[in-house]
Formats: sequence, structure tokens, C-alpha cells
Amino acid sequence: MTETDKTPPPNFIRNIIREDLKQNKNNGSVHTRFPPEPNGYLHVGHAKSICLNFGIAAENKGGLCNLRFDDTNPEKEDVEYTEAIMADVRWLGFDWEDRLYYASDYFEQLYDYAVQLIRDGKAYVDSLSAEEMREYRGTLTKPGRESPDRNRSVEENLDLFRRMRAGEFDEGEYIVRAKIDMTSPNINMRDPAIYRIKKAHHHRTGDKWCIYPMYDYTHCISDALEGITHSICTLEFEDHRPLYDWCLDQLPVPCHPQQIEFARLNLNYTVMSKRKLNELVNEGYVTGWDDPRMPTIVGMRRRGYTPAAIRDFCERIGVTKNDTVIDMSVLENSVREDLDENARRVMAVLRPLRVVITNYPGNNVEELDAPYHPNKPEMGRRRVPFSRVIYIEQDDFMENPPKKFFRLSPGAEVRLRYAYFIKCEEVIKDKKTGAIIELRCSYDPQTKGGNAPDGRKVKGTLHWVSADHAFKSEVRLFDRLFTVPVPDGEGDWKSVINPGSVEVLKDACLEPGLAGAKPEERFQFERLGYFCADHKDSTQGKPVFNRTVTLRDSWAKVDKQVK
Ligand code: ATP
Ligand code: MG
Repeated sequence: MTETDKTPPPNFIRNIIREDLKQNKNNGSVHTRFPPEPNGYLHVGHAKSICLNFGIAAENKGGLCNLRFDDTNPEKEDVEYTEAIMADVRWLGFDWEDRLYYASDYFEQLYDYAVQLIRDGKAYVDSLSAEEMREYRGTLTKPGRESPDRNRSVEENLDLFRRMRAGEFDEGEYIVRAKIDMTSPNINMRDPAIYRIKKAHHHRTGDKWCIYPMYDYTHCISDALEGITHSICTLEFEDHRPLYDWCLDQLPVPCHPQQIEFARLNLNYTVMSKRKLNELVNEGYVTGWDDPRMPTIVGMRRRGYTPAAIRDFCERIGVTKNDTVIDMSVLENSVREDLDENARRVMAVLRPLRVVITNYPGNNVEELDAPYHPNKPEMGRRRVPFSRVIYIEQDDFMENPPKKFFRLSPGAEVRLRYAYFIKCEEVIKDKKTGAIIELRCSYDPQTKGGNAPDGRKVKGTLHWVSADHAFKSEVRLFDRLFTVPVPDGEGDWKSVINPGSVEVLKDACLEPGLAGAKPEERFQFERLGYFCADHKDSTQGKPVFNRTVTLRDSWAKVDKQVK
């Protein structure tokens, strides 16, 4: 890294923080948090928020970032998710040190604060039904009406709230609301609910509580209790900011964090809401949250994405207040760049076509020397066996090629990577089906290493694998999960799931060294893309591979045609 790389490019949040530091606001400290709700696995949108919050803490001296689970919705939450979320944040390269918090840790304090609001005449217990509340709330153009319970006495409110906690009432019978302004143009300020009865078991507090604080009320207080300076969230909370500030203004909290909103990440050809991802999993459209086609962190990890690539992507897309849809190719370019630098090159034939080199001595085997990276000698070299029978890719041969086909065809000569020139002499077909089953070729012993002493040129260079030495394994190729750029636009999002989003190749032939690939080890299969040994389905000595991404963006072209 050079010196200049260390200064991150400005964005509006960095600018706010720089200004705050200049004015010594918050005594010159920066303290952020990442506040996931443990109701699903993290996706690449969360990665944007993680990189932003942990990144800002890291780039400011003494900066800190907490991990806080916003666990106020007992029915949808689960420890499976909290554990997965922690693993994902760590895998992305971030560390909350000893600052792991749960909103549920604050339930007692949140209750006490609600009691205080009631005492101060700033909250009340309402008995309107959900339906009535909706009706009383008004609309964007029509002010709301005050609930008949709004002027209930403090004593009665306190008594009811205590009895709500004691479990005396059914769900929906009562609700605690902040007393703000039923005529506010901002609907969030029309006496929002702050506590509800929910007779549900909580994954951390068990059956201790049968009332739970609402998200808006909980979030701002949790931030304040943790000494957060900048509470960064997504744009949909912009209209909630007055409520965030209102709650903190009424209560003797230790500090008043500043809420800053940014545009959430939207990616094309995928969906990102946890509810939808959950449906994909539960209804069997994918094999799990970690299916390599999923935009989840666990899915991308299994697919072969690196933490560095995801961080790079998050930096590249920037932080703004404008909602945009980012093209999947931006994400793919980040991983390509990383793997181009860091993945070892090897050869693999995905759809093998048998080639017999008729003039190559029968049992001879040569160990050809090949570098792992074309311009990084420090990555080392390996030996690749070459023999009389090899496999090449089926689509590297055409019997009747068009003009600019520089690969193999009858009578044509090509270079085998790291080996020799070969020339196609004969095409063998299945007698019944007419399918091409084998090529008979000759080789030129003078061309070892890839050049002809007589100076004759060939245009094509093919990858290959020696048939006797090949490591046969499964390779999976992936395509977009959806067939349209914005699946959750209009219509039924599940009707545009791509039925061909995975292709499993059972008979791929890989260079023998790949039998020793470790789970999550990544490679470039020359000419085919970047691949990663699947950490779930691989067994000792028998790795299977997932294609992370192709070498070039074949989608850019397709997309242009569509537009
Ligand atoms: P989803 O809508 O996908 O279910 P969520 O917002 O309900 O997501 P949370 O667990 O509440 O999920 O999110 C934790 C944090 O991640 C929040 O601060 C939220 O703003 C942020 N976040 C969620 N989705 C995105 C996204 N697509 N882009 C950027 N930040 C996001
Ligand atoms: Mg949420």
C-alpha cells in the first residue's frame, strides 16, 4: 500500500465526522455500531453497513465500533442467526473486541425509562385495537385523532403498565404510546407505540418478559447507553429521526448520538430482504442460506468471494443519499481483481474431449514445468504431467469452424499450454449418434515449451489435462439467481427465478495437484474463471469446486443488447 492509498476518499459521512472532530464534538471521539436484527443471515447489503461502521471507527484514532444485536422481536429471532452474524463480521475482517451488546441487555433500563416517560406525562397506555389505532392515525394528507385514552391519569397509566409487565393482559389489549403530536405531518410522531404485549419466549431473556419495547424506542436508547457518537443507518429511517431525537430529549440518557442516514445497497439480479431470502431457503429454491448463488455473506464465501473483495466493493460503490441499483458486475470486478493478483493458475477441463497424440511415444510421461502465476514468480511453480492421451475442452474443437475460430479444427494447429503444438488429423465419431468422441492429433516435438524453431505461428493456445493423471471431480457453474435486473419490482418475484442458475459438471478433469486443494482454497482455472474448493461438500482428497466468477464480464454485452 502506498501512502496515498491510506487516505480514504471523502464521502458525506466522512465529511461530517471530520467536521465534528475539528470542532471537538463528543470530545473528539468516534464511536459507531453495527446493529443487526438476528432474524436471518447477513447479506452483501449488511456488508456495506459493516464496512462503513467498522471502517469509520478504524480510520479515526481511538475510534470504536460495537456489535449490537437488535433483538426486540422474539418470535423471529434465533441464536443460530446471532452466531452466524458474528462469524460473518469476523470473516469480513472486523473486530468488536469486548463490545458485544444485545438490546435485550437493556430491557430493564428501557422499562424504567418508559415508566419515567409515563410519570412525566409523555407516554400513556392505550386500549385502542390495532385497527382503531390505524384509523385514528390519519394519513399523509389527513391529521390523526387523539385516542380517548390519551388523557388517562399518570397513576392509572403506571398501574396498567405494571400489570402489562406482570402478564395480566392479552396481546393487543393494551399498548404504550409516546405522547407527541397526533397532527404532526410526520406520521412517525403521531403517538408512536413504544411497548407492546407479546407473550413470546425470547432467545436470551427466556420468559422473563411478556412486553417488548418497539424498535424505534429501543434503538436510540441503546445507542445512547453505549455512548455511540454517530448512529449510521439506512435512508428509510430518515423519517424516524425526529422520533429518535424526541426520545433522547425526554430522557436522562448519557449522550445524544447523531443519526445519519445513507442509501442502502441494492444489487441487480438478486433480492436482498431477509424475508425473501428466507423464502428462497424455506421453499427450496436454493440449498440453504449459504447456497453459492445467495447474496448472503455465507453464500458468497462458499462461492469463493474473498473478504478483501467484498470490502473493496463496499468502498468502490461509495456512500451517498441517493438510492441506486448497483450492477452485479461491479461486485464481480472486485473479486476478479483480487483473485487475478492472488489466485494460483492451474488447468482444468470442464467438458472433456479425448485427444490421442498418435506420434507421441506410448508410455512416455513428461513432467512439464509451469508457473502458478504469469507475473508473480514468488507464487512458485509446479509440474504438470503430459502424456499420449489428453483431454481438451469440447468447445475448443469445431469440425466446421467459422472464419475466426483459432482453436482446434480438422487440419488446424494449436499450442497446448506449457507443452507442444498439436495438429488435428482425424475426427472419430460415435457410429450410432455421430457425436465426436475423440480426436487424433500429431504433435511436433520441436515445439516443446510453446514455440516453433522454424518460426511458424499458431493463434490458439488451449488448456488440457493428461487423461491418465487427471483428477476427476465435480465442478459447479453458477448464473444469476433471477432472470430480470429488478426481481422485486413489479409482479411476482418468484416467477422470475432463473431455472438454470446452477450447472453441475460431474466429469470435470483437473490437473492432479488439485486433489490436494483445501476447503476454501481458490484458483484460476486457466481460460475458465476463478474457482473455489467448496468447504461443505469437499472431502479429504476429493475437493469439489464452485466457480466464483468468469474471467471476463460476459454479462456486460448481454445487458447492452437488452437495453
Ligand atoms: P433486510 O431489509 O434485508 O431484512 P434490515 O434492515 O431489516 O435488512 P437489520 O438486521 O436491521 O436488517 O440491519 C442491520 C443494519 O444493516 C442496519 O443498520 C441496516 O440499516 C443495515 N442494512 C440492511 N440492509 C442494508 C443494505 N441493503 N444496504 C446497506 N445497509 C443495510
Ligand atoms: Mg431491520
